[in-house]
Amino acid sequence: MDKARDSHTDLSRHQAKEVIIIGAGPAGAAAAAWLARAGHAVRVLERSHFPRFSIGESLLPRCMQHLKACGLMPYAEAGDYQPKTGAAFTRRGEHRHIDFRDKFSDGPGTTWQIERADFDQRLIEGAREYGAKVEFGVTVNGFRAAEGNEGPRLTLEDGRELEAAFVLDASGYGRVLARLESLERDPRLEPRVALFGHVHDGIAGLTPPAEGYHRDNILIASHPVHPDVWYWLIPFTHGRASLGVVGPRELIEATGDDSENSLNKQQRLWQWVNEEPRLNELLRDATPANAVQSLGGYSADVSRLHGPGYALLGNAGEFLDPVFSSGVTIALESALRAMPLVERELACTDESQRPDWASEFEQPLRRGINVFREFVTAWYDGRLPDIIYHPDPHLRIRQMISAVLAGYAWDEKNPFVSASRRRLTALATLSASAHDTRQPAARKGKIPS
Ligand SMILES: Cc1cc2nc3c(=O)[nH]c(=O)nc-3n(C[C@H](O)[C@H](O)[C@H](O)COP(=O)(O)OP(=O)(O)OC[C@H]3O[C@@H](n4cnc5c(N)ncnc54)[C@H](O)[C@@H]3O)c2cc1C
Repeated sequence: MDKARDSHTDLSRHQAKEVIIIGAGPAGAAAAAWLARAGHAVRVLERSHFPRFSIGESLLPRCMQHLKACGLMPYAEAGDYQPKTGAAFTRRGEHRHIDFRDKFSDGPGTTWQIERADFDQRLIEGAREYGAKVEFGVTVNGFRAAEGNEGPRLTLEDGRELEAAFVLDASGYGRVLARLESLERDPRLEPRVALFGHVHDGIAGLTPPAEGYHRDNILIASHPVHPDVWYWLIPFTHGRASLGVVGPRELIEATGDDSENSLNKQQRLWQWVNEEPRLNELLRDATPANAVQSLGGYSADVSRLHGPGYALLGNAGEFLDPVFSSGVTIALESALRAMPLVERELACTDESQRPDWASEFEQPLRRGINVFREFVTAWYDGRLPDIIYHPDPHLRIRQMISAVLAGYAWDEKNPFVSASRRRLTALATLSASAHDTRQPAARKGKIPS
């Protein structure tokens, strides 16, 4: 076949078929909206029926740029969510606050705390309004990568087989292509367990009122004795909040018996909450709003984020840890970075025009993920708490840390992005000596009296 005819065949093959997206979470919805708005044929296949519960409720300000870029901002804004301006930290009676509006990097400094059932439904509805076809209750369980002139093929649980122009795996914890293409690899983070549920938090009605804590902050509390156990409190609107505790399995499951029933998990969660004075005080009038769930071993990674005719987005590729709420931001970042490349894939008429997914997608995306990984590692090994609880932080450095925690982990101008490990270690050493001078008991892991 001559080159011109071959190119024509290839082009018409792409024009005739759709980009198929596995999963309708934030990564899938953002990709679908972007492509549909650009006039491409898109089909989203989603295993569950929306609205469905999902964990991952505290966004980072960087997300606001993503939502704008894919056209989903008006749909998200209609959700009337709890604004978020920063993160509050508490440990053994010490309180710190990082305000995302006061940060090193350019970009929005506020975002939302959202119930994902509602948020995800709004996003995928937006994508649908832009023209994406969305099928719920459809599970993808088979895959064959693109080969020659054949596009990638998906097998569905209902027996259908679909050929796509390109496949985006946004299946989150479903990890469809990681499993089917044997891409899974060690996530390089310790396995941990989270126990979480929603509460009617009762904070607004507290008498006396909750001093110094505002709903527009995620609260990250450290256990007074176990430094590797921490809690989140993420207030929503209407007096509801998400509450969770994270730690090593042997500790988290040591409370209560091993029964899987939700009552037992509820008791375990509250037993942990009772051990942290600040949360215990804030939630003294709280009542459960749903069943408590647990999730373990959620950190995950893959050997590569792309292959012939496909790319992996969001949690379907790499997921780190919940501590700095980076999950949805990374999911959206990956979708937005992949979109121009997918568009070039669809337009390309011969191999020489194909994007280089390794250098144009995976490497730059991973650079920011690695920054978050450094921060997560520094949180658990104690360097980051030393920095956060420094009694007299340097303003500019605080703004640099604030920028990363606000999601600007790809801003290479920030020294805590370009050299995160070195900077965190050096700063933690300085901070630790400040703590040593002021609080020797705390450094030894004892609770100050
Ligand atoms: C304990 C915990 C707390 C967290 N807290 C936060 C937080 O505060 N903020 C934050 O940003 N992130 C948080 N995260 C991370 C967040 O949950 C994820 O990063 C985020 O949901 C990833 O989005 P996604 O679009 O990649 O995948 P998901 O949101 O998981 O969406 C994937 C979709 O794919 C569908 N699917 C799966 N398998 C198949 C299949 N075979 N066929 C078809 N469809 C399929 C699923 O039903 C799902 O709807 C937390 C994670 C954990 C574990």
